Amino acid sequence: MAECRLCLNDKTLCKSHIFPEYMYAHCYDDNHSYIEFNAESGKYNKRRRKGIYEELLCRDCELIIQKYEDYGKHILYDVAKQKIEATKKSYCNEDYDYRLFKLFVLSLLWRASISTQDSFKLALLGKYEEELRKILLNGLETPVNNYPIYLYQTHIGGNQSNGVFMEIHPAKSRFDGKTVYQFIADGVFFFVGVGVQSLKTFRHGSWVNPERLQIGYDELTKLSSLVDIFARLHHQGKFSVYEK
Ligand SMILES: [Zn+2]
Repeated sequence: MAECRLCLNDKTLCKSHIFPEYMYAHCYDDNHSYIEFNAESGKYNKRRRKGIYEELLCRDCELIIQKYEDYGKHILYDVAKQKIEATKKSYCNEDYDYRLFKLFVLSLLWRASISTQDSFKLALLGKYEEELRKILLNGLETPVNNYPIYLYQTHIGGNQSNGVFMEIHPAKSRFDGKTVYQFIADGVFFFVGVGVQSLKTFRHGSWVNPERLQIGYDELTKLSSLVDIFARLHHQGKFSVYEK
């Protein structure tokens, strides 16, 4: 028995994975490992082991998270990735469950924060970890500028870069303690703002909003320019935030 990180009850804990298993399906490797990018200059890419688990959640809470994972799988894998592969264009969905899809993305960020694994060591949400815990436990809908999200399916010369991972890390630019986390999971680039943020931080506003979901499509090698956006915005004083 130990404290479940989601419901905080003393329970028997399951061996929980941090990112869902299905995100590693494209990582074909004899040694059950995969390569993880490191976007910081002067740092090398790393070889990571697949299938590492941590005892974090009780059975009931595993089921809560699984609901979010299942919906994320449906949208990303059953629909978006296939559509993007066929059209070679960004993907738009105006008939999706905003609350559930956002909970899926936020569950990735939250699990990365509570994880002690090396891959997720730079994800440190501080007080927002507790805020996200309540949002995930209760399945709450968050306003569009609270934890805004921006998503890209990346490709290499027109081939989806499935199986590509990049270590989660905070964006270089911060404003009033606000942080944007970036990571790549199975070729999908995620930008997630922490807490209430200005949507101006994101080039075209949040792409996960109640009206529609948009997933961009861009060359993996152009990632540096995406990351630089934040540095530029900060430099120009455009990285402003909403006050509640
Ligand atoms: Zn629990």
